[in-house]
Amino acid sequence: MTRAPRIAIVGGGIGGVAAALALERRGFATVVCEQSPALSEIGAGVNLTPNALMALRALGVEDGVVVAGCESDFLMIRSWKSGRVISRMRRGSFRQQFGAPNLTIHRADLLHVLHGALKTTELHLAARCIGIEQRPRGAVARLADGSEIEADVIVGADGIHSVVRKDLFGADAPRFTGCICWRGMAARDAVPQDINVAEGTMWMGPHGHVVHYPVRRGELINIVAHVDSDAWTEESWTSECDLSEVMTAYAGWHRDLLRLYPNSERWYKWALYDRDPPARWSKGRVTLLGDSAHAMLPYLAQGAAMAIEDACVLAAAIARHADDLDTALLTYEQRRMPRARAAVLGSRERARENHLASPWARLKRDAKFALRERFGRDKTVFQTRWLYSYDVASELR
Ligand SMILES: Cc1cc2nc3c(=O)[nH]c(=O)nc-3n(C[C@H](O)[C@H](O)[C@H](O)COP(=O)(O)OP(=O)(O)OC[C@H]3O[C@@H](n4cnc5c(N)ncnc54)[C@H](O)[C@@H]3O)c2cc1C
Repeated sequence: MTRAPRIAIVGGGIGGVAAALALERRGFATVVCEQSPALSEIGAGVNLTPNALMALRALGVEDGVVVAGCESDFLMIRSWKSGRVISRMRRGSFRQQFGAPNLTIHRADLLHVLHGALKTTELHLAARCIGIEQRPRGAVARLADGSEIEADVIVGADGIHSVVRKDLFGADAPRFTGCICWRGMAARDAVPQDINVAEGTMWMGPHGHVVHYPVRRGELINIVAHVDSDAWTEESWTSECDLSEVMTAYAGWHRDLLRLYPNSERWYKWALYDRDPPARWSKGRVTLLGDSAHAMLPYLAQGAAMAIEDACVLAAAIARHADDLDTALLTYEQRRMPRARAAVLGSRERARENHLASPWARLKRDAKFALRERFGRDKTVFQTRWLYSYDVASELR
Protein backbone atom coordinates (compact mmCIF):
# COMPACT_ATOMS: atom_id res chain seq x y z
CA MET A 1 0.00 0.00 0.00
CA THR A 2 1.53 3.32 -0.97
CA ARG A 3 -0.98 5.76 0.56
CA ALA A 4 -1.55 5.95 4.35
CA PRO A 5 -4.38 3.67 5.44
CA ARG A 6 -7.78 5.20 6.16
CA ILE A 7 -9.34 4.02 9.41
CA ALA A 8 -13.04 4.19 10.36
CA ILE A 9 -14.07 3.94 14.00
CA VAL A 10 -17.60 2.98 14.99
CA GLY A 11 -18.43 4.66 18.31
CA GLY A 12 -17.39 8.02 19.72
CA GLY A 13 -17.12 7.11 23.42
CA ILE A 14 -13.91 7.25 25.43
CA GLY A 15 -12.39 4.31 23.51
CA GLY A 16 -13.37 5.50 20.03
CA VAL A 17 -12.20 9.07 20.55
CA ALA A 18 -8.94 7.89 22.16
CA ALA A 19 -8.38 5.63 19.14
CA ALA A 20 -9.06 8.52 16.73
CA LEU A 21 -6.53 10.65 18.58
CA ALA A 22 -3.88 7.92 18.65
CA LEU A 23 -4.32 7.26 14.90
CA GLU A 24 -4.43 10.94 14.03
CA ARG A 25 -1.20 11.52 15.94
CA ARG A 26 0.44 8.93 13.71
CA GLY A 27 -0.78 10.65 10.59
CA PHE A 28 -3.67 8.41 9.55
CA ALA A 29 -6.87 9.68 7.98
CA THR A 30 -9.49 8.79 10.57
CA VAL A 31 -13.26 8.94 10.59
CA VAL A 32 -15.53 8.35 13.61
CA CYS A 33 -19.23 7.55 13.32
CA GLU A 34 -21.22 8.01 16.50
CA GLN A 35 -24.90 7.16 16.80
CA SER A 36 -25.74 10.05 19.18
CA PRO A 37 -26.42 13.51 17.77
CA ALA A 38 -23.54 14.91 19.90
CA LEU A 39 -20.40 13.53 21.50
CA SER A 40 -21.57 13.27 25.05
CA GLU A 41 -21.03 11.29 28.21
CA ILE A 42 -23.32 10.44 31.06
CA GLY A 43 -23.05 12.45 34.27
CA ALA A 44 -20.79 10.07 36.12
CA GLY A 45 -17.22 9.90 37.29
CA VAL A 46 -14.41 7.63 36.33
CA ASN A 47 -11.34 6.64 38.32
CA LEU A 48 -8.14 6.76 36.28
CA THR A 49 -5.39 4.58 37.69
CA PRO A 50 -1.70 5.38 36.90
CA ASN A 51 -1.64 3.12 33.82
CA ALA A 52 -4.55 5.13 32.35
CA LEU A 53 -2.63 8.35 32.98
CA MET A 54 0.44 6.92 31.25
CA ALA A 55 -1.70 6.01 28.24
CA LEU A 56 -3.14 9.54 28.22
CA ARG A 57 0.45 10.82 28.39
CA ALA A 58 1.26 8.77 25.30
CA LEU A 59 -1.67 10.53 23.59
CA GLY A 60 -0.32 13.93 24.66
CA VAL A 61 -3.32 14.86 26.82
CA GLU A 62 -2.18 14.00 30.35
CA ASP A 63 -1.85 17.65 31.41
CA GLY A 64 -5.37 18.53 30.29
CA VAL A 65 -6.77 15.54 32.18
CA VAL A 66 -4.81 16.42 35.34
CA VAL A 67 -6.23 19.95 35.26
CA ALA A 68 -9.81 18.68 34.88
CA GLY A 69 -9.49 15.85 37.41
CA CYS A 70 -8.91 15.44 41.14
CA GLU A 71 -6.02 13.81 42.93
CA SER A 72 -6.69 12.67 46.48
CA ASP A 73 -3.98 11.53 48.89
CA PHE A 74 -5.71 8.37 50.09
CA LEU A 75 -8.21 5.73 49.20
CA MET A 76 -10.08 5.18 52.46
CA ILE A 77 -11.63 1.75 52.89
CA ARG A 78 -14.26 1.78 55.61
CA SER A 79 -16.55 -0.73 57.21
CA TRP A 80 -20.18 -0.42 56.17
CA LYS A 81 -21.82 -0.04 59.57
CA SER A 82 -19.31 1.21 62.11
CA GLY A 83 -17.34 3.36 59.67
CA ARG A 84 -14.12 1.80 61.05
CA VAL A 85 -11.20 2.55 58.73
CA ILE A 86 -10.04 -0.79 57.33
CA SER A 87 -7.24 0.69 55.28
CA ARG A 88 -5.88 4.06 54.18
CA MET A 89 -4.10 3.32 50.95
CA ARG A 90 -1.71 6.12 50.11
CA ARG A 91 -2.44 7.25 46.57
CA GLY A 92 -0.44 10.43 46.86
CA SER A 93 2.76 8.43 46.33
CA PHE A 94 1.58 6.67 43.14
CA ARG A 95 3.46 9.20 41.04
CA GLN A 96 6.74 8.03 42.59
CA GLN A 97 5.78 4.36 42.74
CA PHE A 98 4.20 3.88 39.36
CA GLY A 99 5.21 6.89 37.29
CA ALA A 100 1.83 8.65 37.21
CA PRO A 101 -0.87 9.73 39.67
CA ASN A 102 -4.34 8.33 40.28
CA LEU A 103 -7.08 10.75 39.23
CA THR A 104 -10.83 10.90 39.48
CA ILE A 105 -12.62 12.83 36.75
CA HIS A 106 -16.09 13.48 35.36
CA ARG A 107 -16.56 11.33 32.25
CA ALA A 108 -17.73 14.32 30.23
CA ASP A 109 -14.54 16.20 31.20
CA LEU A 110 -12.36 13.28 30.07
CA LEU A 111 -14.20 13.04 26.76
CA HIS A 112 -13.94 16.81 26.34
CA VAL A 113 -10.15 16.73 26.72
CA LEU A 114 -9.80 13.84 24.26
CA HIS A 115 -12.19 15.36 21.74
CA GLY A 116 -10.60 18.81 22.10
CA ALA A 117 -7.24 17.37 21.04
CA LEU A 118 -8.59 16.02 17.72
CA LYS A 119 -7.57 18.05 14.70
CA THR A 120 -8.08 16.15 11.49
CA THR A 121 -10.54 13.39 12.40
CA GLU A 122 -13.78 13.45 10.43
CA LEU A 123 -16.68 13.15 12.86
CA HIS A 124 -20.08 11.85 11.75
CA LEU A 125 -22.79 12.35 14.36
CA ALA A 126 -26.23 10.74 14.38
CA ALA A 127 -24.49 8.03 12.35
CA ARG A 128 -25.63 4.64 13.61
CA CYS A 129 -23.82 1.67 12.22
CA ILE A 130 -26.12 -1.24 11.43
CA GLY A 131 -23.61 -3.66 9.98
CA ILE A 132 -20.16 -4.35 8.62
CA GLU A 133 -19.11 -5.91 5.33
CA GLN A 134 -15.65 -7.24 4.65
CA ARG A 135 -14.04 -6.31 1.33
CA PRO A 136 -10.91 -7.88 -0.18
CA ARG A 137 -8.73 -4.91 0.85
CA GLY A 138 -10.78 -3.25 3.55
CA ALA A 139 -14.27 -3.12 4.99
CA VAL A 140 -17.46 -1.08 4.87
CA ALA A 141 -19.60 0.21 7.74
CA ARG A 142 -23.25 0.45 6.74
CA LEU A 143 -25.18 3.25 8.45
CA ALA A 144 -28.86 3.45 9.35
CA ASP A 145 -29.44 6.36 6.94
CA GLY A 146 -28.39 4.14 4.02
CA SER A 147 -24.91 5.62 3.59
CA GLU A 148 -21.66 3.66 3.84
CA ILE A 149 -18.18 4.38 5.08
CA GLU A 150 -15.40 2.46 3.40
CA ALA A 151 -11.99 2.14 5.01
CA ASP A 152 -8.86 0.03 5.03
CA VAL A 153 -9.57 -0.90 8.65
CA ILE A 154 -12.76 -0.62 10.71
CA VAL A 155 -12.55 -0.45 14.49
CA GLY A 156 -15.63 -1.40 16.51
CA ALA A 157 -15.49 0.87 19.57
CA ASP A 158 -19.25 0.63 19.97
CA GLY A 159 -19.49 -0.53 23.55
CA ILE A 160 -20.86 -3.59 25.30
CA HIS A 161 -23.75 -4.12 22.81
CA SER A 162 -21.42 -3.82 19.84
CA VAL A 163 -23.00 -4.25 16.41
CA VAL A 164 -19.52 -4.71 14.95
CA ARG A 165 -18.77 -7.56 17.32
CA LYS A 166 -22.06 -9.26 16.45
CA ASP A 167 -21.27 -9.03 12.76
CA LEU A 168 -17.79 -10.45 13.27
CA PHE A 169 -18.47 -13.28 15.68
CA GLY A 170 -22.25 -13.74 15.86
CA ALA A 171 -24.75 -12.73 18.49
CA ASP A 172 -23.97 -13.58 22.09
CA ALA A 173 -25.54 -11.87 25.03
CA PRO A 174 -23.33 -10.28 27.68
CA ARG A 175 -23.33 -12.05 31.05
CA PHE A 176 -25.38 -10.54 33.87
CA THR A 177 -22.95 -10.48 36.80
CA GLY A 178 -25.54 -10.56 39.59
CA CYS A 179 -24.56 -7.02 40.64
CA ILE A 180 -26.53 -3.83 40.23
CA CYS A 181 -25.52 -0.32 41.10
CA TRP A 182 -27.03 3.06 41.76
CA ARG A 183 -25.23 6.18 40.69
CA GLY A 184 -25.63 9.75 41.94
CA MET A 185 -23.73 13.02 41.80
CA ALA A 186 -23.84 15.57 44.63
CA ALA A 187 -22.64 19.18 44.67
CA ARG A 188 -19.78 19.38 47.21
CA ASP A 189 -21.32 22.47 48.80
CA ALA A 190 -24.56 20.60 49.48
CA VAL A 191 -22.84 17.80 51.43
CA PRO A 192 -22.65 18.32 55.23
CA GLN A 193 -19.13 19.55 56.06
CA ASP A 194 -18.45 16.81 58.64
CA ILE A 195 -18.67 14.03 56.00
CA ASN A 196 -15.24 13.37 54.51
CA VAL A 197 -15.77 13.44 50.76
CA ALA A 198 -12.39 14.94 49.87
CA GLU A 199 -10.73 11.52 49.77
CA GLY A 200 -11.75 8.67 47.52
CA THR A 201 -13.71 6.34 49.82
CA MET A 202 -14.94 2.78 49.56
CA TRP A 203 -17.42 1.36 52.08
CA MET A 204 -17.41 -2.44 52.23
CA GLY A 205 -20.36 -4.40 53.61
CA PRO A 206 -22.23 -7.65 53.22
CA HIS A 207 -23.36 -8.18 49.61
CA GLY A 208 -22.30 -4.71 48.55
CA HIS A 209 -19.93 -1.78 48.51
CA VAL A 210 -20.17 1.95 47.90
CA VAL A 211 -17.60 4.22 46.32
CA HIS A 212 -17.51 8.00 46.34
CA TYR A 213 -14.90 10.40 45.12
CA PRO A 214 -14.58 14.04 44.03
CA VAL A 215 -14.66 15.06 40.36
CA ARG A 216 -14.60 18.39 38.47
CA ARG A 217 -11.83 19.90 40.64
CA GLY A 218 -13.73 18.85 43.75
CA GLU A 219 -16.99 20.65 42.93
CA LEU A 220 -18.96 17.41 42.54
CA ILE A 221 -18.99 14.12 44.42
CA ASN A 222 -19.57 11.00 42.34
CA ILE A 223 -21.36 8.23 44.23
CA VAL A 224 -21.74 4.63 43.05
CA ALA A 225 -23.48 2.10 45.29
CA HIS A 226 -23.26 -1.59 44.38
CA VAL A 227 -25.23 -4.57 45.67
CA ASP A 228 -25.63 -8.22 44.74
CA SER A 229 -29.12 -8.50 43.34
CA ASP A 230 -30.98 -9.92 40.41
CA ALA A 231 -34.04 -7.74 41.00
CA TRP A 232 -33.10 -5.51 38.06
CA THR A 233 -31.36 -6.61 34.89
CA GLU A 234 -31.65 -3.73 32.43
CA GLU A 235 -28.22 -2.71 31.15
CA SER A 236 -28.87 1.00 30.77
CA TRP A 237 -26.71 3.89 31.95
CA THR A 238 -29.65 6.28 31.96
CA SER A 239 -32.53 4.61 33.86
CA GLU A 240 -33.58 7.07 36.50
CA CYS A 241 -34.91 5.86 39.84
CA ASP A 242 -36.02 7.22 43.16
CA LEU A 243 -33.71 8.03 46.07
CA SER A 244 -35.96 5.92 48.31
CA GLU A 245 -34.73 2.76 46.53
CA VAL A 246 -31.15 3.56 47.48
CA MET A 247 -32.06 4.45 51.05
CA THR A 248 -33.96 1.19 51.43
CA ALA A 249 -31.16 -0.92 49.98
CA TYR A 250 -28.64 0.64 52.39
CA ALA A 251 -30.80 0.79 55.53
CA GLY A 252 -28.49 -0.02 58.44
CA TRP A 253 -25.31 1.25 56.74
CA HIS A 254 -23.30 4.10 58.29
CA ARG A 255 -25.15 7.37 58.88
CA ASP A 256 -22.61 9.38 56.84
CA LEU A 257 -23.65 7.42 53.76
CA LEU A 258 -27.33 7.80 54.52
CA ARG A 259 -26.77 11.56 54.91
CA LEU A 260 -24.73 11.70 51.71
CA TYR A 261 -27.25 10.02 49.36
CA PRO A 262 -30.03 12.68 49.57
CA ASN A 263 -27.62 15.33 48.25
CA SER A 264 -27.75 13.89 44.76
CA GLU A 265 -30.71 15.38 42.94
CA ARG A 266 -30.97 12.40 40.59
CA TRP A 267 -30.32 8.67 40.93
CA TYR A 268 -29.81 6.17 38.14
CA LYS A 269 -29.58 2.43 38.29
CA TRP A 270 -27.54 0.02 36.28
CA ALA A 271 -27.39 -3.73 36.01
CA LEU A 272 -23.77 -4.73 35.54
CA TYR A 273 -22.76 -7.02 32.71
CA ASP A 274 -19.48 -8.37 31.46
CA ARG A 275 -18.39 -10.93 28.87
CA ASP A 276 -16.17 -13.95 28.93
CA PRO A 277 -12.88 -13.01 27.26
CA PRO A 278 -13.20 -13.93 23.57
CA ALA A 279 -10.77 -16.01 21.53
CA ARG A 280 -10.30 -13.31 18.86
CA TRP A 281 -10.90 -9.58 18.47
CA SER A 282 -10.28 -9.25 14.75
CA LYS A 283 -11.53 -10.76 11.52
CA GLY A 284 -10.41 -9.60 8.10
CA ARG A 285 -9.89 -5.86 8.25
CA VAL A 286 -12.17 -5.28 11.23
CA THR A 287 -11.21 -5.27 14.90
CA LEU A 288 -12.66 -4.42 18.30
CA LEU A 289 -11.55 -1.97 20.98
CA GLY A 290 -12.74 -1.05 24.49
CA ASP A 291 -15.95 -2.52 25.92
CA SER A 292 -16.85 -4.19 22.62
CA ALA A 293 -13.75 -6.37 23.09
CA HIS A 294 -13.56 -6.71 26.86
CA ALA A 295 -16.59 -5.47 28.81
CA MET A 296 -15.74 -5.91 32.47
CA LEU A 297 -17.06 -5.14 35.92
CA PRO A 298 -15.90 -1.72 37.13
CA TYR A 299 -14.27 -3.08 40.32
CA LEU A 300 -10.67 -2.60 39.25
CA ALA A 301 -11.50 0.72 37.52
CA GLN A 302 -10.00 -0.56 34.28
CA GLY A 303 -12.68 -0.38 31.54
CA ALA A 304 -11.81 3.07 30.27
CA ALA A 305 -8.14 2.56 31.10
CA MET A 306 -7.97 -0.57 28.93
CA ALA A 307 -9.80 1.18 26.08
CA ILE A 308 -7.22 4.01 26.10
CA GLU A 309 -4.34 1.53 26.21
CA ASP A 310 -5.95 -0.39 23.32
CA ALA A 311 -6.06 2.86 21.33
CA CYS A 312 -2.33 3.48 21.76
CA VAL A 313 -1.31 -0.07 20.85
CA LEU A 314 -3.65 -0.27 17.85
CA ALA A 315 -2.25 2.94 16.37
CA ALA A 316 1.33 1.76 16.96
CA ALA A 317 0.64 -1.62 15.32
CA ILE A 318 -0.94 0.03 12.27
CA ALA A 319 1.96 2.47 12.01
CA ARG A 320 4.49 -0.36 12.17
CA HIS A 321 2.69 -2.58 9.67
CA ALA A 322 1.00 0.00 7.45
CA ASP A 323 1.89 -2.12 4.42
CA ASP A 324 0.42 -5.28 5.90
CA LEU A 325 -2.74 -4.44 7.82
CA ASP A 326 -3.60 -8.09 8.51
CA THR A 327 -0.36 -8.37 10.46
CA ALA A 328 -1.08 -5.02 12.13
CA LEU A 329 -4.42 -6.26 13.51
CA LEU A 330 -2.93 -9.58 14.57
CA THR A 331 -0.11 -7.78 16.39
CA TYR A 332 -2.62 -5.50 18.11
CA GLU A 333 -4.78 -8.29 19.44
CA GLN A 334 -1.85 -10.46 20.47
CA ARG A 335 -0.41 -7.60 22.51
CA ARG A 336 -3.67 -6.54 24.11
CA MET A 337 -5.67 -9.70 24.72
CA PRO A 338 -3.73 -11.21 27.65
CA ARG A 339 -3.81 -8.00 29.68
CA ALA A 340 -7.47 -7.26 28.93
CA ARG A 341 -8.40 -10.85 29.79
CA ALA A 342 -6.60 -10.59 33.14
CA ALA A 343 -8.49 -7.36 33.88
CA VAL A 344 -11.89 -8.95 33.07
CA LEU A 345 -11.20 -11.94 35.30
CA GLY A 346 -9.53 -9.86 38.04
CA SER A 347 -12.59 -7.59 38.16
CA ARG A 348 -14.84 -10.61 38.69
CA GLU A 349 -12.67 -11.76 41.56
CA ARG A 350 -12.90 -8.31 43.15
CA ALA A 351 -16.70 -8.54 43.04
CA ARG A 352 -16.52 -11.70 45.11
CA GLU A 353 -14.14 -10.28 47.71
CA ASN A 354 -15.83 -6.85 47.88
CA HIS A 355 -19.20 -8.38 48.71
CA LEU A 356 -18.38 -11.13 51.21
CA ALA A 357 -21.47 -11.96 53.24
CA SER A 358 -20.00 -13.83 56.22
CA PRO A 359 -18.78 -11.56 59.06
CA TRP A 360 -15.85 -13.93 59.71
CA ALA A 361 -14.76 -13.85 56.06
CA ARG A 362 -14.99 -10.05 56.07
CA LEU A 363 -12.89 -9.84 59.22
CA LYS A 364 -10.16 -11.98 57.65
CA ARG A 365 -10.28 -9.89 54.46
CA ASP A 366 -10.10 -6.63 56.40
CA ALA A 367 -7.10 -7.86 58.40
CA LYS A 368 -5.40 -8.86 55.15
CA PHE A 369 -6.01 -5.38 53.66
CA ALA A 370 -4.62 -3.67 56.76
CA LEU A 371 -1.50 -5.86 56.69
CA ARG A 372 -0.97 -5.25 52.97
CA GLU A 373 -1.25 -1.52 53.45
CA ARG A 374 1.43 -1.51 56.14
CA PHE A 375 3.82 -4.25 55.10
CA GLY A 376 2.93 -5.35 51.57
CA ARG A 377 5.59 -5.08 48.90
CA ASP A 378 2.98 -4.42 46.22
CA LYS A 379 1.90 -1.19 48.04
CA THR A 380 -1.68 -1.53 46.85
CA VAL A 381 -4.52 -2.99 48.89
CA PHE A 382 -5.92 -4.91 45.93
CA GLN A 383 -2.52 -6.14 44.65
CA THR A 384 -2.80 -4.13 41.47
CA ARG A 385 0.83 -3.21 40.87
CA TRP A 386 0.72 -5.35 37.71
CA LEU A 387 -2.05 -3.09 36.38
CA TYR A 388 -0.87 0.28 37.62
CA SER A 389 2.82 0.04 36.72
CA TYR A 390 2.20 -0.76 33.05
CA ASP A 391 3.35 2.06 30.82
CA VAL A 392 1.87 1.58 27.36
CA ALA A 393 4.80 3.57 25.94
CA SER A 394 6.89 0.40 26.41
CA GLU A 395 4.70 -1.25 23.72
CA LEU A 396 5.04 1.59 21.26
CA ARG A 397 8.75 1.51 20.50
C1 LIG B 1 -20.67 1.78 37.08
C2 LIG B 1 -19.45 1.84 36.21
C3 LIG B 1 -18.32 2.47 36.71
C4 LIG B 1 -17.14 2.48 35.94
N1 LIG B 1 -16.02 3.03 36.48
C5 LIG B 1 -14.86 2.99 35.79
C6 LIG B 1 -13.68 3.53 36.34
O1 LIG B 1 -13.68 4.04 37.46
N2 LIG B 1 -12.51 3.47 35.59
C7 LIG B 1 -12.49 2.91 34.33
O2 LIG B 1 -11.41 2.88 33.71
N3 LIG B 1 -13.62 2.39 33.78
C8 LIG B 1 -14.79 2.42 34.47
N4 LIG B 1 -15.92 1.91 33.94
C9 LIG B 1 -15.85 1.30 32.60
C10 LIG B 1 -15.86 2.33 31.49
O3 LIG B 1 -16.90 3.25 31.69
C11 LIG B 1 -16.04 1.65 30.13
O4 LIG B 1 -15.18 0.55 30.06
C12 LIG B 1 -15.72 2.63 29.02
O5 LIG B 1 -16.66 3.66 28.99
C13 LIG B 1 -15.71 1.90 27.67
O6 LIG B 1 -15.56 2.84 26.65
P1 LIG B 1 -15.97 2.46 25.15
O7 LIG B 1 -15.64 3.66 24.34
O8 LIG B 1 -15.36 1.15 24.79
O9 LIG B 1 -17.53 2.19 25.20
P2 LIG B 1 -18.72 3.20 25.51
O10 LIG B 1 -18.33 4.21 26.53
O11 LIG B 1 -19.92 2.36 25.75
O12 LIG B 1 -18.90 4.00 24.13
C14 LIG B 1 -19.46 3.39 22.99
C15 LIG B 1 -19.90 4.49 22.04
O13 LIG B 1 -20.35 3.88 20.84
C16 LIG B 1 -21.58 4.45 20.46
N5 LIG B 1 -22.30 3.42 19.69
C17 LIG B 1 -22.84 2.28 20.16
N6 LIG B 1 -23.40 1.58 19.17
C18 LIG B 1 -23.19 2.29 18.04
C19 LIG B 1 -23.54 2.08 16.67
N7 LIG B 1 -24.22 0.99 16.28
N8 LIG B 1 -23.18 3.01 15.75
C20 LIG B 1 -22.50 4.14 16.13
N9 LIG B 1 -22.16 4.39 17.43
C21 LIG B 1 -22.50 3.47 18.36
C22 LIG B 1 -22.26 4.81 21.77
O14 LIG B 1 -23.26 5.81 21.60
C23 LIG B 1 -21.07 5.31 22.58
O15 LIG B 1 -20.81 6.68 22.36
C24 LIG B 1 -17.12 1.89 34.65
C25 LIG B 1 -18.28 1.33 34.13
C26 LIG B 1 -19.43 1.29 34.91
C27 LIG B 1 -20.66 0.63 34.35
